[in-house]
Amino acid sequence: MINIPKGTKDVTPKESYKWHYIENTVRSVADNFCVNEIRTPTFEHTELFLRGVGDTTDIVNKEMYTFLDKGERSITLKPEGTAGVARAFIENSIFANPQPTKMYYITPVFRYERPQNGRLREHHQFGVEYFGAESPLADIEVMLIAKSIFDKLGVKNISLNINSIGCPTCRKKYNDALKAFLADNFNNLCGTCRDRFDKNPLRILDCKEESCKKLLTDAPKVIDYLCEDCLEHHNAVCKGLDDLGIDYIINPQIVRGLDYYTRTVFEFISNNIGAQGTVCGGGRYNNLVEQVGGSPCPAVGFGMGLERLIIMLENLGLSLGEQNSVDLYVAPICDKGREIVLKFVTDMRNKGLKVEQDLMARSAKAQMKYANKLNAKYVAILGEEELKDNSCSLKNMQTGENSVIKLDKVFEIIKEGK
Ligand code: ATP
Ligand code: MG
Repeated sequence: MINIPKGTKDVTPKESYKWHYIENTVRSVADNFCVNEIRTPTFEHTELFLRGVGDTTDIVNKEMYTFLDKGERSITLKPEGTAGVARAFIENSIFANPQPTKMYYITPVFRYERPQNGRLREHHQFGVEYFGAESPLADIEVMLIAKSIFDKLGVKNISLNINSIGCPTCRKKYNDALKAFLADNFNNLCGTCRDRFDKNPLRILDCKEESCKKLLTDAPKVIDYLCEDCLEHHNAVCKGLDDLGIDYIINPQIVRGLDYYTRTVFEFISNNIGAQGTVCGGGRYNNLVEQVGGSPCPAVGFGMGLERLIIMLENLGLSLGEQNSVDLYVAPICDKGREIVLKFVTDMRNKGLKVEQDLMARSAKAQMKYANKLNAKYVAILGEEELKDNSCSLKNMQTGENSVIKLDKVFEIIKEGK
């Protein structure tokens, strides 16, 4: 027996309805905001992520699924959704259209991580990318998309944490201040953070190690080091949320794990998932498009982890839709019945009913048992006597009512019964 690779999951036919429910919900909210879907390949040239995600991130340093293909090219399975979208934006000259470009994706994401609840090696993200708009309204709109999804799913206890990490100019001042603050404690930092100290000190704020977290309690806040423009942008984002009455927390610890962020960063955090509380993380990345070879173009977006979203809904006891139902089970129990069953079933399906038939040569009794198991709403029994009169015996499985019905009237009865 060959087992599933560690950190991956099957979605069985019994639970795929949950995914359809989630996917339909996010697609309908995206439609509502006039955001169109973009689909990009599952793998890209490794170089794209080195440049786009940044080589000081955990993703690039430790988590990528990278391999040489048969043509000796270095290929990487998507470790996040944004870099591929940025590449496609440039490569398909989407930038030449009137801006902004509002896009969403639903994609598998691959990261070599230590698997645990809510942390997989293949997970799925719904992501939104707005390219071309510098306005704080764009930052607000993408947050509103995530918020609308949670609202639509009935999630109440989720907290929006926001922060601004400024632009490269203000960040330089901040990095110096943070390094000065941490200098005395350099040796108490974890190995990764000692490494970050020179390469990318801001990322130390993102460290999950308790010892590092403790050292950072009184660390200087990026928000106090913003330049005038970045501060103005940040204040406008906050004002927009205030005007809409949307609750949020300004959380100076939020810096996000990727190098490409500028200005706004945000996370939606839930207490109902377990240790991995962040369902959705995003922000602005004004330098990304240029970094992967395009002309400078502001951008803002987020990624939402769909497995974590499902865990959260389940833990909150919220609906995840319903298993597909069977309207009609057709059970032939005589030769004539078996002769016409396919035609009858096809006719009923063409009329739009969800119809199941016997593919296992079951006995009459076993068919009824099976129809019960399927939770079929109606069962049509094709028996010899009834068929002489072009009729069947139709049983309403909810009421137990049984009546002899002409075959060409079955559809109407079931439709009315719905
Ligand atoms: P974390 O801090 O949990 O490692 P991250 O900052 O690496 O998250 P992002 O790159 O922002 O995550 O991805 C967006 C969302 O995708 C996360 O908020 C989370 O919901 C989900 N996600 C990220 N990594 C995983 C994973 N390994 N397994 C399942 N979901 C994940
Ligand atoms: Mg991570």
